[in-house]
Amino acid sequence: MGFHTIESLATATARELEPAGISIKKALDVIRLARGSISLSFVRADELLKQRQSILRLTTGSKTLDDLIGGGLETQSITEFYGEYGSGKSQICHQLCVNIQLPPERGGLGGAALYIDTENTFHTERIVSMAQSLGLDIEEVVKNIIVAEAYTSDHQIFLLENADRIIKENNIRMIIVDSLTAHFRSEYVGRETLALRQQKLNKHMHKLIRLARAFNTIAVVTNQVMSKPDVFFGDAVHPIGGHIVAHTSHTRLYLRKSARGPVRIARLVSSPYLPNGEGVFKITENGVEEVEEGDEKRRR
Ligand code: ATP
Ligand code: MG
Repeated sequence: MGFHTIESLATATARELEPAGISIKKALDVIRLARGSISLSFVRADELLKQRQSILRLTTGSKTLDDLIGGGLETQSITEFYGEYGSGKSQICHQLCVNIQLPPERGGLGGAALYIDTENTFHTERIVSMAQSLGLDIEEVVKNIIVAEAYTSDHQIFLLENADRIIKENNIRMIIVDSLTAHFRSEYVGRETLALRQQKLNKHMHKLIRLARAFNTIAVVTNQVMSKPDVFFGDAVHPIGGHIVAHTSHTRLYLRKSARGPVRIARLVSSPYLPNGEGVFKITENGVEEVEEGDEKRRR
């Protein structure tokens, strides 16, 4: 049923185990035993602080972008990048797949990446360029990225539901879903399908959070934007997925293209403990990079 590890059992709900043909009571017993054998239980705030200290951070490749989100992407929570086509969401995802493999002293987690690709967007060539620019062993780097192509939203859900064993066996330290919403958006059209779409998205996001917590991994999702024709002031775009995606993404970054080629503007739209803010980075042949003084730091 997709539960291959104690960690995923420990974070399951009794209802999820029902299809196994066991009683709710039995299911609860199984979950309690699983929880007992790994450390997941009620915690006091001081212990919570200790648990937070196990959170690791991953560099984006741009110091400005890292600083904007408090020093890089965090494990155990979901970071969402949203923006229009070409804004750099997938490029960042590629870069993170390389960076995750860096040793901690270079801003990585020394681990592998799982890339759930829903738009046939993954390009090994880009990984090669980025790895080369960081002076890494290209063969090693490409071996440490597991790509799973998702053909439909149900397939996408299925892949994540069954990811726990792959995560454990391959030292996966980051799970990417690029794009989180594209399949849902194209498959669920019309108001009457909205409730079902949101319900499925909600479950999918929660699965991702639980995997991120159970295995102390980074979780990244990308999301497109929809234009709001009735907005006259401010940004007339908003991310897909409504409240569900907004509430389950812990850190949300809105990416925009700038007037000048490779420069991108990132806006921190929501974070559990950081103020909103903006910063620039650039996307070049080498990947995500810091905008240097010489690049004239003009915006928009
Ligand atoms: P979508 O919503 O269509 O998925 P996205 O936000 O994922 O869009 P990306 O694919 O991340 O967009 O960005 C594509 C852009 O990245 C290109 O338009 C280009 O500006 C830049 N880019 C891609 N490859 C290179 C490269 N090799 N060298 C320089 N810039 C590149
Ligand atoms: Mg993309």
